[in-house]
Amino acid sequence: MEAMSDERATTGEHATFETLGLREELLKALTALGYEEPTPIQQEAIPPLAEGRDLLGQAATGTGKTAAFSLPVLQRLEAHRRAKPPVALVLVPTRELAVQVSEALHRYGKDLGARVLPVYGGAPIVRQLRSLESGVDVVVATPGRALDLVNRGALHLGDIATVVLDEADEMLDMGFAEDLEAILDETPQDRQTVLFSATMPRRLDALARRHLSDPVRITIAREKAASGEAPRVRQTAYVVPRGAKPAALGRILDVEAPTAAIVFCRTREEVDTLTETLNGRGYRAEPLHGGMSQEQRDKVMGRLRSGTADLLVATDVAARGLDIEQLTHVVNYDVPSAPESYVHRIGRVGRAGREGVAITLAEPREHRMLKTIEKVAGSPITVEKVPTVADLRARRLDLTRGALRESLLTDDLDRFRVVVESLADEFDLMEVALAAVKLAHEAGNGVDDDEEIPQVAFRPDSGGGKAPRAGNGRDAGARGDGGRPPRRAASGPAGRLFVGLGREAGIRPGDLVGAITGETGLTGRDVGSIEIHQRFALVEVPEGAVDEVVQALRATMIKGRKATVRRDRS
Ligand code: AMP
Repeated sequence: MEAMSDERATTGEHATFETLGLREELLKALTALGYEEPTPIQQEAIPPLAEGRDLLGQAATGTGKTAAFSLPVLQRLEAHRRAKPPVALVLVPTRELAVQVSEALHRYGKDLGARVLPVYGGAPIVRQLRSLESGVDVVVATPGRALDLVNRGALHLGDIATVVLDEADEMLDMGFAEDLEAILDETPQDRQTVLFSATMPRRLDALARRHLSDPVRITIAREKAASGEAPRVRQTAYVVPRGAKPAALGRILDVEAPTAAIVFCRTREEVDTLTETLNGRGYRAEPLHGGMSQEQRDKVMGRLRSGTADLLVATDVAARGLDIEQLTHVVNYDVPSAPESYVHRIGRVGRAGREGVAITLAEPREHRMLKTIEKVAGSPITVEKVPTVADLRARRLDLTRGALRESLLTDDLDRFRVVVESLADEFDLMEVALAAVKLAHEAGNGVDDDEEIPQVAFRPDSGGGKAPRAGNGRDAGARGDGGRPPRRAASGPAGRLFVGLGREAGIRPGDLVGAITGETGLTGRDVGSIEIHQRFALVEVPEGAVDEVVQALRATMIKGRKATVRRDRS
């Protein structure tokens, strides 16, 4: 047996894609995608795979395993390329994964002109036949369809240089064992064979022994991380479909109300997009990634430390070595690619006896990685439901009650007595209090958003269930991603207003809602989405009320300032 390469797991800790020896075209693609550094599985797998070694890797979704096998396949493409027949075959259990993997190969291999084709059951075979005929470098296939195409003489495997079995345990669970054997028999003896699987059941080990030759072995999650000691932190995970993540994160942050939080993303692009989204929700979020100059980064850190910003959206690389005193929450916008990285991230909170909170957004497919992380971190991660609209409202009322209580205990309220007394002639004191609470509540909180975020569960290990990749039939593939970004409900068609005050003027959604509801006949529920930009804000209100709102806002002050207000037609 080959020496276990896990022993090397921690040595090349900060390797870069350059030091892994990847071609210029691939490096360019990775930079364009905003990948800052290889994940642990990529560090481990890419060098031996690029040399042509066989590999047996235990790694779950979320570790970056797709790029770990795709990049070497592309790296070696030139050497093996033929005019027509494919030189690499990637076998995957489902249609969804076939599409996902071929998209990844396509993105990474764009500058190499890689021709990648996904083939799977359930899709018209004619188009797949035509594409194969015109020439393909890499085929990504579900086993049933691959064998079908082989038997029709359309898929020629005689020139295959690399076969990848991705999520091999799932392929066995779905009854593809015989198909896999038959397919492998069609490929050349001296091919490179790569097998990735989240688990290593005995059947799989037998298959690996038969078809892999002297493989490098990689286990990305060892039983116990060397650094071991996880800090005492409340750890929570939420299962959220990809499309609903921005809304879910906003909701979770609204309920958690962190003093200062760091949100970890995988790529620079994700950092930039998410920062904008969060700012649109009224948070003061700042981006931090490796594409920024030292000076820019120092500025961002300064704003977080001084409390001018409350959220830092960062990549691991950019956040390395940061020590932020007042941090209360660490958020993993994606499940981290290795348990060690999770432990390292959450080590930034829960220090000096203060409570820290770690929040992880996991996609339905990522439960295995989360389990592994839980094992390595050595403390439980509770899976909770994304707060509902009712939860959020209850929490906001709670915050208002807390603020009023504090005011009752500490403020000198005497100068308001005259207001209450004069109203008390006309109204019951309870009613006066209710109206005051309403105003305080609306001023202190953002707009009530009444979108429900889809509640999903982790995808069960095999078959059944309502999670995305639950097709039980062979080659049946799966439905789409289940969730899409929910739309804000507005009553009737929405019109949009431009308001010439933004973050720079300290505007938050609550200020705009307060001004609109205070000056017009609209209620908070009539106000739709609110985007707050640096110097302006965009607000949706019912189309029929736009003119009224424009007039009213022009005549009033928002946060003590006059604002340009007009209908927005952009
Ligand atoms: P996988 O485990 O292959 O399903 O990959 C999980 C996610 O990580 C995918 O969305 C990839 O695009 C992303 N990813 C893979 N490698 C990296 C990397 N080195 N840096 C940032 N993101 C990555």
